Amino acid sequence: MIPFSSFSTNESSSQKVLPLQVKEQVRVLILGSGPAGYTAAIYAARANLKPILYQGLQAGGQLTTTTEVDNFPGYPEGVTGPVLMDDLQKQAERFGTEVRWGMATAVDFTGPKHKVWIDDEYLIEADAVIIATGATAKYLGLESEEKFKGSGVSACATCDGFFYRGQDVAVVGGGDTAAEEATYLAGLCRKVYVIVRKPYLRASKAMQEKVARTPNVEVLFEHVTKEIIGNQTVEGVILVNSKGEEVKVDITGFFVAIGHEPNSSIFKPFLEMDEIGYINTIPGTSKTNVPGVFACGDVQDKHYRQAITAAGSGCMAALDAERYLS
Ligand code: NDP
Repeated sequence: MIPFSSFSTNESSSQKVLPLQVKEQVRVLILGSGPAGYTAAIYAARANLKPILYQGLQAGGQLTTTTEVDNFPGYPEGVTGPVLMDDLQKQAERFGTEVRWGMATAVDFTGPKHKVWIDDEYLIEADAVIIATGATAKYLGLESEEKFKGSGVSACATCDGFFYRGQDVAVVGGGDTAAEEATYLAGLCRKVYVIVRKPYLRASKAMQEKVARTPNVEVLFEHVTKEIIGNQTVEGVILVNSKGEEVKVDITGFFVAIGHEPNSSIFKPFLEMDEIGYINTIPGTSKTNVPGVFACGDVQDKHYRQAITAAGSGCMAALDAERYLS
């Protein structure tokens, strides 16, 4: 058998020969280490299901690339994303979750037991699988953006903002992520331009007000990015405004914050999903179309996409898995 395999970064799929010897049988296998995955782990571990959790490429998930999280209940003073994720991991481990490095690179959900290959090498059979693989940042798709990735173009201000201290940068996007990244960068950089294609921000009212209150942030409404320019590193960006005029803005850092894509490509042959790749779950549950396979968090939620809703859906997945197994 040559199972379907691809990397969960939504790269195009490719056929690979994968090892068929099952190395481990587990009750509950959790894929992903964001709030959904860790919450599922806390509940599954407390139900004595001895879950194994694989962290994936980005241990801790997207929240590790965020700064202050002020809306997660239980933290009256706020908490940073990395600290929150660290706390969740410790809580999951406290009840016996085994947290491992590694990434699910292929699955086969056709049998009574669910096969999951880790890093294309290690084959696990699980009675129940909880998919909490989250979503990945989207890019604009410009050639110049590709050219400068890692040398001026980034999708994570908290990871890379440090390199642009005292400089002028731009953030593209009008949602909460863009607003958050812009205000974070404003604390490090001299000037932050926010490039928004619409005449308004989609970000929440609170974030819009925060942007408006930050003096070194300038929002350029109705501007579209045409090209990022520079030699070895980014030196500027060419924008097109609503009148069709080109505008050059001098910047050294270009941060992309235009949303995310669900990390679901390896599940595509087996699970029902929408046209974007969000996994369909039976409303009010975490159940997918395959018995024993559950989905929670951003990989199945395009509406709310909050840490707390992800955590809530992780809880649902663990409870659904527990009921399925009993
Ligand atoms: P969103 O989908 O909310 O916003 C994406 C933004 O990028 C929109 O303004 C969109 O424009 C713009 N955009 C998309 N494609 C392009 C493109 N090709 N060129 C230019 N602009 C583009 O994504 P976010 O990542 O901001 O937020 C996702 C979810 O996470 C939301 O629900 C948000 O509330 C939540 N979130 C919460 C946070 C918090 O609570 N602390 C922090 C960050 C995110 P347009 O409006 O025109 O479509």
